[in-house]
Amino acid sequence: MHNTAFAEQGLNVAYAACAVAPEAVGDAVAGLRALGFAGANVTIPHKEAVIPHLDALTERARAIGAVNTLFWDEDGRLAGDNTDAPGFRAPLEGHAEHLRGGDLLIFGAGGAARAASYALLTGFAPARLTLAARTPEKAEALAADLAPFDETDTLSVVPFGEAGPAVRSARLLVNATPLGMHPETDATPWPHLEDFSEDQIAYDLVYAPPRTRLLREAEARGATPIGGLDMLVGQAAASYRRWTGRPMPTEAVRQALRERLDA
Ligand code: NAP
Repeated sequence: MHNTAFAEQGLNVAYAACAVAPEAVGDAVAGLRALGFAGANVTIPHKEAVIPHLDALTERARAIGAVNTLFWDEDGRLAGDNTDAPGFRAPLEGHAEHLRGGDLLIFGAGGAARAASYALLTGFAPARLTLAARTPEKAEALAADLAPFDETDTLSVVPFGEAGPAVRSARLLVNATPLGMHPETDATPWPHLEDFSEDQIAYDLVYAPPRTRLLREAEARGATPIGGLDMLVGQAAASYRRWTGRPMPTEAVRQALRERLDA
């Protein structure tokens, strides 16, 4: 995505993926500083471990407790941001009226669920935000960490198997688990088709395949589907802006992604 954007805008910058062992995260960040890198992304399993090695955090990275983007701030500090949150929110902007003040639900309680919860609490002031989790203690910890952004106590946790009523009343269903991801494309976080309705948006953060079983089944019942590629491009675009100060040419990036995923 980034190399496509750099080429499109004629920037003399290259993006490369480097595997870093867990015990080498500090050395890797020192290397970025020493070599004068323009920035970096950080992914699983380093999104939390990288934090002690940085000079500053954006408010949302601190709130979410995870960093996916390193950039140099205006004071010359190596700072950490979380662009998963604005990336998650980007495809929902057109649905803000429908979502604001409504019941919303997230399947999962991992890193993506953290970014999504922060984005929903701060962006749409939901009446109720339910976390349906296989490990409810993890979701309780998430809710406790985000309590400062949940002034009206809207966050609640239910075990996966007991989420039926919350699923039926939700205007937005977010899959923040890997269920449905290639190669196990028959999996879905919610196999009960009768719970989907026209009033709902089904948003799957899984992007391979672009149309998951959850999206196909919810759409068949009239719900509006949103696939994970929108968030993938959205988080990349927010990182790109941090590094270059420019908007990412997202149409060219989407086209390159489509070609890659079709190949
Ligand atoms: P994570 O931190 O490992 O969290 C995964 C969550 O899914 C955990 O809460 C886990 O429950 C739950 N889970 C896993 N398998 C499950 C199962 N069989 N049944 C019920 N719950 C299950 O991963 P993550 O970083 O949040 O990523 C989650 C998904 O989002 C992945 O598919 C990832 O590719 C996708 N994602 C997409 C984007 C994008 O840009 N589109 C960005 C980030 C992530 P436990 O706590 O019980 O383990």
